[in-house]
Amino acid sequence: MRCPKCGSRDDKVIDSRQSRDGSSIRRRRECLRCKYRYTTYEEIERSDLRVIKTNRTHEPFERRKLAASIAKAFEKRSASLLTLEDMVNDIVHELETGGREVPSSVIGARVLEKLREIDEVAYLRYASVYQRFQDVDQFVDAIHTLGRRIKPNALQRELFPPETMKENANVARRSREGAIKNHGRV
Ligand SMILES: [Zn+2]
Repeated sequence: MRCPKCGSRDDKVIDSRQSRDGSSIRRRRECLRCKYRYTTYEEIERSDLRVIKTNRTHEPFERRKLAASIAKAFEKRSASLLTLEDMVNDIVHELETGGREVPSSVIGARVLEKLREIDEVAYLRYASVYQRFQDVDQFVDAIHTLGRRIKPNALQRELFPPETMKENANVARRSREGAIKNHGRV
């Protein structure tokens, strides 16, 4: 494995852990040259699972893409890497035990279901990016509901300042404007 920091190909595995369902292995590695630590995943390749996009084109399912979209929703949130990984594993497992083709909207719905249980801010972010809200008003309503609910908790209030709400509303508007082009993309 090539070190993402210095490019050296010499590394050692310092930790190895199997996912709960045994479908993937996560390895912590350390570069022998610069000591940088990074993580790799090993999993069974499922080349036959395909995603049907809303414009009806098909593409191979990519776990990496799914994981990246979820990680983005959790940016600056406090969820651990293992939580994210479990979530991706669960979703991939569900998809793989289904048919060979899955609509991107089904993947999006699965992600939202899980996010709602784990972190509502991440849920709103994902929803705003992936068009699950019909319009800005609906999005703002959801934020206000959430804002009222988390009011008593000072820490969460800090994590969700008014600036972020404004920014998220902007994101919702921008993504709505791009909705025709990107609708349902996961
Ligand atoms: Zn290195």
